[in-house]
Amino acid sequence: ESGVTDSGTVTNSKPGSTNMADAVRKARDAFNRGVTKPVEWRRKQLKALKRLYEENRQAMVDALRQDLRRSKTEAILLEVDYLINDLSNTIHCLDEWIKPERPSKGFVNLLDDVVIHNDPYGVVLVIGAWNYPLQLLLLPMTGAIAAGNAVIVKPSEVAVACNKFIVETLPKYLDSDAVVVVEGGPQETTELLKEKFDYIFYTGSTSVGKIVYEAATKNLTPVTLELGGKSPVYIDNTVDIVVTAKRILWGKFINVGQTCIAPDYILCTKEVQAKFVEASKKVLKEWYGEDPQKSPDLCRIINLRHFTRLQAILDNSKDKIAVGGKYDAQDKYIEPTILVDVSPTDKAMEDEIFGPILPIVPIENAYEAIKFINEREHPLVLYVFSTQSNIQKLFNDQTRSGSISMNDTVMFYAVETLPFGGVGYSGMGAYHGKATFDTFTHKKSCLVKNFAVIGEKLASNRYPPYSDSKLNF
Ligand code: NAD
Repeated sequence: ESGVTDSGTVTNSKPGSTNMADAVRKARDAFNRGVTKPVEWRRKQLKALKRLYEENRQAMVDALRQDLRRSKTEAILLEVDYLINDLSNTIHCLDEWIKPERPSKGFVNLLDDVVIHNDPYGVVLVIGAWNYPLQLLLLPMTGAIAAGNAVIVKPSEVAVACNKFIVETLPKYLDSDAVVVVEGGPQETTELLKEKFDYIFYTGSTSVGKIVYEAATKNLTPVTLELGGKSPVYIDNTVDIVVTAKRILWGKFINVGQTCIAPDYILCTKEVQAKFVEASKKVLKEWYGEDPQKSPDLCRIINLRHFTRLQAILDNSKDKIAVGGKYDAQDKYIEPTILVDVSPTDKAMEDEIFGPILPIVPIENAYEAIKFINEREHPLVLYVFSTQSNIQKLFNDQTRSGSISMNDTVMFYAVETLPFGGVGYSGMGAYHGKATFDTFTHKKSCLVKNFAVIGEKLASNRYPPYSDSKLNF
């Protein structure tokens, strides 16, 4: 049996079944009845979500441990508390964000109301990824609710425990007429994408992003695509190499590299490469001990398919391993690994690594690094480590990327006033903080005229009979 259950969850569909259509119909009906638009409803949902987070902190930590063997610290820092902070900010700012905007107006409209209304789009679809299975689904969902939409959420089936947690928990707290959870993998998502949505927010790979985009064009549905790619790091010889190593290695090895904004590869001179490797050895030993497999702080690879993909990179790079290189399929464990003297044609440089392998490609200088970056697709993030402001400016001026971050890696993601998103193959659109609310909001322009005599007189030159004198020509 498949269909929408009383709790608002849609069970896995069978081929050709109509339950995806049922889910969307249910959400659309709620939107059309005006359920989601009142600020009271939105606030109630957001507060219920806050309760969900507070009452299920341990359950969320447990689900992340099951899926990724995530440590409690990384689970709390990168997902649970991140979500709670974002939600608190949304609740705090809701009234301010919802308010109609009153832009400046010209002389002709002095007597008129010129307003921008923050309208919800309608029924929006949020599709999540498995690497941060809670945060990447619930953060956009929060913005969609705050903006007054009905929402269909589709967690990633790959993160099994988190998927189960969301399916079971969300309907207990939220209005399941208007926030509907659907389950499934590629086949079910393909079915789902045949439905008409008013907005689609997708997080995942660039290749599936293209499929989502194509499906959206059929109904001219606007999209946000939060995709991936190879985010480069440039390091010059002016930096504190130990601090640099710590900031890069933390960004790389949280979630064992399964992070869309993880540093993918490093560009630096051979001299910097040697210093970086030396510093990294010390840092990694300090963090994860002699045998990192025994450390409780390192996650595991999500599944065997991804493990095998990463193992193939290591097997192809045997002569270039400067640090790490071990793996254990039973444990889905890959040791934090640094590859040196990597050439642009090596396997490690083919696709986004999405695992704990960090290749270093030696270059001569900043200009060569910029050329290297510009010969490839625009990355999600570019990381520049240099104390020289002219070098920072050079990279900023001469490259394009979703974001750019100087002298640190993933921390920019937590600055809620910075919109986060890609450009080109790394995605389109952006969110976080108010940008999330704006993403799910249609800015509806509105002019309200009145019948005041003077206003009519001011604008009467538009009427026939036309003449040059009326034009001041
Ligand atoms: P994915 O594209 O395989 O899966 C993401 C979602 O798409 C899942 O919900 C999945 O069920 C669905 N899906 C998979 N195949 C599909 C198909 N053929 N048709 C329709 N839907 C389909 O991505 P992933 O493996 O979960 O995530 C890894 C990628 O996502 C990496 O490239 C990473 O950089 C990127 N990513 C980006 C961000 C970001 O915020 N920009 C965040 C996390 C991950």
